[in-house]
Amino acid sequence: MQEIATSSRTRNIIRKHGFTFKKSLGQNFLIDGNVLDRIIGAAELDHSRGALEVGPGIGSLTERLAQSAGKVAAVEIDQRLIPILQDVMSPYPNVSVVHSDILKTDLQQLWKEQFSDLAGVSVVANLPYYVTTPIIMKLLEERLPIENIVVMVQREVAERMSAKPGGKDYGSLSIAVQYYCEPELVCIVPGKSFIPAPNVDSAVIKLKRRAEPAVSVADEAKFFQVVQASFAQRRKTLANNLSALSGKERKGELAELLRECGIQPERRAETLTLQEFALVCEMLTRHGM
Ligand code: SAM
Repeated sequence: MQEIATSSRTRNIIRKHGFTFKKSLGQNFLIDGNVLDRIIGAAELDHSRGALEVGPGIGSLTERLAQSAGKVAAVEIDQRLIPILQDVMSPYPNVSVVHSDILKTDLQQLWKEQFSDLAGVSVVANLPYYVTTPIIMKLLEERLPIENIVVMVQREVAERMSAKPGGKDYGSLSIAVQYYCEPELVCIVPGKSFIPAPNVDSAVIKLKRRAEPAVSVADEAKFFQVVQASFAQRRKTLANNLSALSGKERKGELAELLRECGIQPERRAETLTLQEFALVCEMLTRHGM
């Protein structure tokens, strides 16, 4: 049988089940086999490994994952898609369809139930664009034993995740992602690769999990608080933004301490490397700011 990720098979499945798309759930189904080749290639799966898919839709990517991985757990929020998935995935006993909102799913528990006997797990997904960042942050912050994350996201989001210091794309998302992972842009995907076609370009990005975070900080929560505060108003200087943490009355002292770290207080947050943010964080902590 023709694979699901084709315009004709996708349309047939949708017609057969009387399915209608919900824009509010970010439903754009992939119909481009070449893009699936790139996603599956980047995920480096084999039959000893597992794959967690977020939002399987009608199963175009799930089908490929089932053929490449030992075990697939596919978490879908839309109840209407569950019987469709059970139908199209019936040839693949290694696929578990889970009806759940990924943001409310106990992933530690899911890992125990689905992946305990596997050599490693990748997250592979064509993400719903309205919740891309919360999903990525949940996957990273829960410290699950994920080897890599290969996801389709809006092109602009992929560019922000992989941005280096110095440009307008570099911000708190770049730092959060790069703290945990090494990002690599896999390919740009035009709207016509989906049904219905979104009116923005998409991109596949691979986030390779680092063995240790990119920088070592004593208090991670404080590090991310410093990053958030530094970017609060992009046009303001670092010292101005950070005075929200030090208190306005200690702004002069703050500027002096930044200079002592080798960081000019007039710089903007978008020019600081992760190492420099770590330095600033340690300095603020040491001086009770
Ligand atoms: N994987 C399919 C494909 O590539 O054709 C569908 C991708 S579509 C962009 C996103 C999917 O995520 C939809 O099936 C949607 O119902 C599902 N979804 C949206 N929000 C979700 C959530 N919070 N948890 C789990 N699935 C979600």
